[in-house]
Amino acid sequence: MSTLPKIAWIGLGIMGSPMSENLLKAGYDVTGFTLEQDKLDRLAAAGGTAAASIAEAVRDADVVITMVPASPQVEAIAYGPDGILANARSGALLIDMSSITPGTSVDLAKAAADQGLRVLDAPVSGGEAGAVEAVLSIMVGGEQADFDQAKPIFEALGRTIVLCGPHGSGQTVKAANQLIVAVNIQACAEAVVFLEKSGVDLAAALDVLNGGLAGSTVLTRKKANFLNRDFRPGFRIDLHHKDMGIVTDAARDVGAALPVGAVVAQLVAALRAQGDGGLDHSALLRAVERLSGARV
Ligand code: NAD
Repeated sequence: MSTLPKIAWIGLGIMGSPMSENLLKAGYDVTGFTLEQDKLDRLAAAGGTAAASIAEAVRDADVVITMVPASPQVEAIAYGPDGILANARSGALLIDMSSITPGTSVDLAKAAADQGLRVLDAPVSGGEAGAVEAVLSIMVGGEQADFDQAKPIFEALGRTIVLCGPHGSGQTVKAANQLIVAVNIQACAEAVVFLEKSGVDLAAALDVLNGGLAGSTVLTRKKANFLNRDFRPGFRIDLHHKDMGIVTDAARDVGAALPVGAVVAQLVAALRAQGDGGLDHSALLRAVERLSGARV
């Protein structure tokens, strides 16, 4: 019988599936719930337990982890008679790893405290590959004691794990992360079109660029996407559009100007309006190609 905390995992998508499997590999008992039957089957095949509802998944859990698309989904799974707050054990720790607005995280922490539950916001960076390889960066907001309790769980999922401040702080740092990633992808996409139009060997150029100051995790992780025009997600443009909205709003609230971020937010929105929302965010290359009259 495992002495590790029992985990409930809600949201077994591109990120949640490999992350929950890493907890199973680390010896945790994981019961999951998500909307797609094939993802529940995948959890069961990996040694977890598929639940028929959120209530069933969280009832006996010591720790409830959520990984769903955005604030409305977090609110849908947390609140109401069928939600986490109404059905989790008093004293359980709720760790929301979705990328959502900082305000939603702060409100959730308050509502959960009224039910005797503790909450951490713990969004991640590193993409699908980072989730599979358990090397995510995890940016956490909440109380130190709760962070200390969750640390072994985080260590099974990621490599860089930092408590950034009170509730909502993890989300604020994640918003900054998404700003940096989007601007970086856009710069890489512009360089790709420029290099190809100039007749340079693109693979050779990206290799040498990645060894210098222009190098980045974006370039390392997305190089093959650019070279092969392989835009299967990964991280969907729809989700990055959501994140550009979060960072733009949060920056306006505190009076921080994001001039380049605002332009890239518009390019992400345009790509989505053109029907590319389901593609990986490396598809920003398609927007630059359209603007440049290059192949799409
Ligand atoms: P996804 O769309 O692949 O998965 C989301 C999952 O949430 C789905 O399996 C869906 O069934 C589940 N879900 C939605 N509503 C639900 C509900 N009411 N009840 C139960 N389950 C529900 O998304 P993803 O790419 O895994 O992203 C999840 C979160 O992680 C997002 O906030 C995203 O911004 C963030 N994120 C994603 C990446 C990435 O590279 N994909 C990287 C870092 C952070």
